[in-house]
Amino acid sequence: MQIYVFLGAPGAGKGTAAARIANDADIHHVSTGAMLRDAVKNGTPAGLSAKKYMDKGTLVPDQVLVDMLGELLSTSKKDATIILDGFPRNENQALQLDELAAKHGATVKAAIDIEAPNELLISRLGGRRVCPSCGMGYHVTNMPPKREGVCDKCGTALITRNDDKPETIKKRLEVYAEQTAPLIGLYKKAGKLRTVNGADEADKVAKKIAAIIKG
Ligand code: AMP
Repeated sequence: MQIYVFLGAPGAGKGTAAARIANDADIHHVSTGAMLRDAVKNGTPAGLSAKKYMDKGTLVPDQVLVDMLGELLSTSKKDATIILDGFPRNENQALQLDELAAKHGATVKAAIDIEAPNELLISRLGGRRVCPSCGMGYHVTNMPPKREGVCDKCGTALITRNDDKPETIKKRLEVYAEQTAPLIGLYKKAGKLRTVNGADEADKVAKKIAAIIKG
């Protein structure tokens, strides 16, 4: 099992790039944010405990994520290639990922940091819309749906995520700077860091990352 960690602040384009790459190849896109949103929607115990942190823009306790990820790795095929979009998000999670990988015969091949300036992140997050039914993401100006406010794929009315409100966006960017950004140095030290420019157009970002994964 090969794991590629996607680093980058909220709004850098991790989910967009991962979805495009996974669409074109036999690669499994694992978004911990999406898994948590599903858990909230389904009212599971993990979802019930996660919701208050997500609504505030802070991190959900590590153990909730470690349990979710352990279950995922234990059910993944031995030859799977997995993109981790949104995990790890702090140093403890990075250590736990190494332990889980060792336990399940997986290797963290690279950490791909998608870099983008703060002003761009804020405008992207503020204009983001998602389909509550199929999870497809849009942006009011950069990536609008064909019919305003309606999902191209399944016709459901689009929504703004609770945590894409201005005060929560600010908090999420602070949490990223304090807790997640230090992982860039950690993976650099381990010789696993690759950096791409997240300000580029979405297709270009996805192509660059796909090339890194293909090797
Ligand atoms: P995302 O969709 O990746 O922006 O994640 C949305 C929210 O889910 C985050 O703001 C956190 O509250 C929570 N979350 C997602 N991944 C993690 C993680 N690895 N550790 C803790 N909380 C997470």
